[in-house]
Amino acid sequence: MPGAEFRAAAHRLVDWVADYLENTDRYPVLAQTAPGALRRQLPAQAPDDPEPLDTILADFERLVLPGVTHWNHPAFFAYFAITGSGPGILGELLSAALNVNAMLWKTCPAATELEEVVLDWLREMLGLPEEFFGVVMDTASVSSLCAIAAAREALPELSIREQGLAGRAEVPRLRLYASEQAHSSIDKAAITLGLGLESLRKIPVDADFRLRPDALEAAVEEDRRAGWEPFCVVATVGTTSTTSIDPVPAIADLCARYGLWLHVDAAYAGTAALVPEYRHVLAGCERADSFVVNPHKRLFTPFDFSAFYCRRPKTLRAAFSLVPEYLRTPEDPKARNYMDYGIQLGRRFRALKLWFVLRYFGRRGLVERLRQHIAWGQEFAAWVDAHSDFERLAPAPLSVVCFRARPRALAERLARAEIPDQKRIESYLDQLNEALLEAVNATGRAYLSHTRLRDRFTLRLAIGNLRTTAPHVERAWALLQEHAARLDNERRPAAWR
Ligand SMILES: *Cc1c(COP(=O)(O)O)cnc(C)c1O
Repeated sequence: MPGAEFRAAAHRLVDWVADYLENTDRYPVLAQTAPGALRRQLPAQAPDDPEPLDTILADFERLVLPGVTHWNHPAFFAYFAITGSGPGILGELLSAALNVNAMLWKTCPAATELEEVVLDWLREMLGLPEEFFGVVMDTASVSSLCAIAAAREALPELSIREQGLAGRAEVPRLRLYASEQAHSSIDKAAITLGLGLESLRKIPVDADFRLRPDALEAAVEEDRRAGWEPFCVVATVGTTSTTSIDPVPAIADLCARYGLWLHVDAAYAGTAALVPEYRHVLAGCERADSFVVNPHKRLFTPFDFSAFYCRRPKTLRAAFSLVPEYLRTPEDPKARNYMDYGIQLGRRFRALKLWFVLRYFGRRGLVERLRQHIAWGQEFAAWVDAHSDFERLAPAPLSVVCFRARPRALAERLARAEIPDQKRIESYLDQLNEALLEAVNATGRAYLSHTRLRDRFTLRLAIGNLRTTAPHVERAWALLQEHAARLDNERRPAAWR
């Protein structure tokens, strides 16, 4: 692509991006499309001959864009709302342009050193200890996988790196613990590492969906007696369904007592600790062996960026370092080679975008925005609590609210009914809320997701996009009330009226 052509197209696209970011509201937040719709419109084979850039861009707008769910939309309240912020996008642009590989210090010294610097900054902002060594990963799933691999490597007498796990009668079965609310990435890590799903024991939670340390201790004791080798506990700060926060101080005590590796999954909620009055969410995490937080979730950094910290970098390195001749460099003992601390060799220059974000907003700017999101989350929770046709299904410690529509007449009926009737009413409420979610999302004016809590279909509203304003939250609440009333009116059996 000749320089002049690139320059002209890049200017045009930057204008497009700026317009897009200012007006994401104009698009339906959830793509209003059906499976296969885009594929059907695209040729099965790549073109043989060059195509003009204008045609490609026109097809992007005409064909691709309608199939996009707009995570940058201010009314995106599903999963965990995220933001492609201006400074983050600019950092990403430069990183794409430089196209370096941060595998070795030598293959891009600045990428390695900036990674060290931004991870130190973030660690300090979160109040985590200086011994925490940081590595940027793509996702929390991979960070936790590496954490559990390091935990396994912390049992060098088992020689798993050399001999693997299969077919070795002398190796005890290893046991890993996490609450039943932990993220599925922990299960995936157990599968991937050859531990198997049976190696992951799910610990019951309390009424507020937090891991119960007493149940954890009982499980560890029981497993030891039965010949398992407990080796790792994953505590979650901000579970995916409800953002419940496991009691990390008590879990850390237990890990110390039993010699278990403590990994903390704070993928979503960890950055709340930037806000002074929420620093407590990370209480006890300073004692973890490893810790993950995702700036791509709640720190306005474009996807992907997961910050992984490990107190025992030598163990992490022992799990992953493998240096073939062609990757040796004279700087090896002095300079850090990040390829030694994870699965992948090639690594993107992700530090650049977080560096832009941290500097552009500054600590104060980030804190103000996070605080605002939490305040809106609390306000939304209060609206739900005050409404007689809705109920909250979990505490809302941060800016995620779990709730459902539950018309007052049915609540009264539920309280009086016999068990079979209660089941019928619960099943009606499940269907009502599922329909409500579909109806609100189909408007294209708000997008929420769901979970199941105590076997109830649960709506989930997550506030976290930088461009969200109070009216967006109010409108989502208005849509929920309007559609809940309508659907209940249309669907409720006559006997329950
Ligand atoms: C989102 C989430 C993950 C997975 O994050 P990825 O970066 O998408 O892998 C893991 N744990 C928790 C608690 C999460 O909320």
